[in-house]
Amino acid sequence: MTSITSILDKSTVTKSDLIELLKCEGADMELLFAKAAKVKQEFIGNGVALRGLIELSNSCSKDCYYCGIRKSNNETKRYFLSEEDVLEAAQFAHNQGIGSLAIQSGEICSDFFTEKISSIIKGVKKISNNQLGITLSCGEQSRETYKQWFDLGAHRYLLRIESSNAELYNKIHPMDENHNHQHRLNCLKDLKSLGFQTGTGVMIGLPFQTYEDLAGDLLFMKEFDIDMCGMGPYLEHSETPLYDYRNHLLSLEKRYELSLKMIAILRILMKDINIASTTALQAIKPEGRMKAIEVGANILMPNISPGKSREDYSLYMNKPGTKDTPEDGLLKLSKGLESINHRMLINEWGDSKHFLKKKQ
Ligand code: SAH
Ligand code: SF4
Repeated sequence: MTSITSILDKSTVTKSDLIELLKCEGADMELLFAKAAKVKQEFIGNGVALRGLIELSNSCSKDCYYCGIRKSNNETKRYFLSEEDVLEAAQFAHNQGIGSLAIQSGEICSDFFTEKISSIIKGVKKISNNQLGITLSCGEQSRETYKQWFDLGAHRYLLRIESSNAELYNKIHPMDENHNHQHRLNCLKDLKSLGFQTGTGVMIGLPFQTYEDLAGDLLFMKEFDIDMCGMGPYLEHSETPLYDYRNHLLSLEKRYELSLKMIAILRILMKDINIASTTALQAIKPEGRMKAIEVGANILMPNISPGKSREDYSLYMNKPGTKDTPEDGLLKLSKGLESINHRMLINEWGDSKHFLKKKQ
């Protein structure tokens, strides 16, 4: 077995090196985290960029086996935020110095939805005098729709591949034309070629997932040359088909550690991309989001959705922060960052350095 230090010293790592890193524990894991922290300090610094998260709608036309707002979950009360609510949240973000928004939604493909997002982009740009940046995460759409949104000023898009292994993808989604791995990949390619800063990610600790799958995910991200990543632990939801496999999962503690290791390794592999510290980590441990920042992440997404809708945007159970006001949430983040010697970037877009470098 190769020692962790010698793997960490290599300039190119193999899939089996990655598997070894993903399996490391105790002192070895701390070495991995320390190396990732050093890389981040050197390439990114201690500034953390913010994305004010707005959960636009929990209506979804898809039936992903893991997700609490899947179409077939009849227990969910569906909502669609009004444009007024969205712009109010955007105004709040702007007033608080949150430089950028992330607008996320269940997947809806319709003219109504395309126009709704277009109108929101225009509205956000107008109320902020073009100052607020916009990341979208609204699933698979046509190239024309993506282009329309890009031309209006959305500049980043997050579409998780969920798993780079098509076989695993097919186990966690219905096998139909609406849930097609190749189509998702094509969407990522469209986004990239249209000029979006393109982000992807995976769930970590899924049933049926192996260390090899996760190592493959990291290599996929490197190979695709992503600009941003949002990934976090898979968490159960009782109203989903994958809940049947809950007794086969890694413990929450192990999923938490594995997620941190994924973030740390990705930081070492892709030194200047944006990596988000996701809410799902915080769902396992209150300090989870700060820990992710310490081991390589540089983006936080405070939830600024109106309180009335937050509980209904329930992708997994025990989602944290559903009762916090946006002000409380921000204050908590700022204090947390201070305690780990990081600072919030105020009024900055916090674009992916990796993307900006490619454009030069
Ligand atoms: N509908 C869009 C965006 C919203 S869902 C899309 O699917 O791309 C955003 C992400 O939530 C998904 O990509 C998925 O990775 C994650 N997610 C869904 N259910 C989850 C669960 N049970 N545990 C952890 N993450 C989950
Ligand atoms: Fe819909 Fe996204 Fe959930 Fe799939 S993961 S059911 S596309 S919201």
